[in-house]
Amino acid sequence: MSTYTQEIVLSVRHWTDSLFSFTTTRSPSFRFSNGQFTMMGVETEGRPLVRAYSMVSPNYEDTLEFFSIKVPDGPLTSRLQHIRDSDRILVSKKPTGTLVIDNLFSGRFLYLLSTGTGLAPFMSIVRDPETYEGFEKIVLVHGCRQVAELAYGERITAELPRDELIGEYVREKLIYYPTVTREPFHNRGRITDLVTSDQLFREIGLPSLDAAQDRAMLCGSPQFLMDMRAVLEQLGFVEGSASEPGTFVVEKAFVER
Ligand SMILES: Cc1cc2nc3c(=O)[nH]c(=O)nc-3n(C[C@H](O)[C@H](O)[C@H](O)COP(=O)(O)OP(=O)(O)OC[C@H]3O[C@@H](n4cnc5c(N)ncnc54)[C@H](O)[C@@H]3O)c2cc1C
Repeated sequence: MSTYTQEIVLSVRHWTDSLFSFTTTRSPSFRFSNGQFTMMGVETEGRPLVRAYSMVSPNYEDTLEFFSIKVPDGPLTSRLQHIRDSDRILVSKKPTGTLVIDNLFSGRFLYLLSTGTGLAPFMSIVRDPETYEGFEKIVLVHGCRQVAELAYGERITAELPRDELIGEYVREKLIYYPTVTREPFHNRGRITDLVTSDQLFREIGLPSLDAAQDRAMLCGSPQFLMDMRAVLEQLGFVEGSASEPGTFVVEKAFVER
């Protein structure tokens, strides 16, 4: 039996010169937990060329959505960025990943801290009713260099509050905090600085991080993960995994090659 299903591209959206997203059909047998990733890509010269990708779409949706970087000479994304409606992509049948609510102890506030395409897994988590049932507030932070890179901002602020399934939860519990480092914007600065200076908490009107009650998920660049992990550990947070829950969990948004 093949490791992959073939899915058909339904729509493509280019956010910037270096970011795009697309939706595809979804095999009914493809099951995943919100926050997980799978191997996804294209067939080239008769062989699969795949990379790890988080699902942006929640696990109850009939279609799949992915959010992707365009690496100019990247083996996969130099091709993938040219996909169009009706093209075929490959999706591995074996999703996995640590960014799942079950890997965290229950708590008060849940912080979803992301940079760049690290937002992707959190887009499915903020559409999961279970996320809201488990926490009093969900704080989604997305850090980028430029404003145009803050993909999905409109969907989060305009569409999710009106969503039939989770709209009420979103209005009551979701706090979205986009921030940029290289342009003027109403929120500016690196996530680690915003946390260590308490600026984030002052601006969203919540108390500073408390390892005894708060939980965090991190997904972003290797540098962001290294810095943010150190900040959390300093505050007494303990990393969790599928074998042992903790007070924070981490997933790489990409690997430096
Ligand atoms: C667990 C996991 C989940 C991932 N989820 C996603 C996702 O949802 N969306 C996505 O676009 N990528 C994601 N990636 C990265 C993805 O697997 C590929 O690296 C990416 O698609 C580029 O593939 P490539 O073959 O074109 O270039 P590669 O040879 O894979 O990468 C070349 C270089 O490009 C840079 N790079 C790669 N990916 C990114 C990125 N996302 N952001 C910034 N720089 C990058 C790195 O410096 C890397 O060394 C994920 C990676 C991991 C490990």
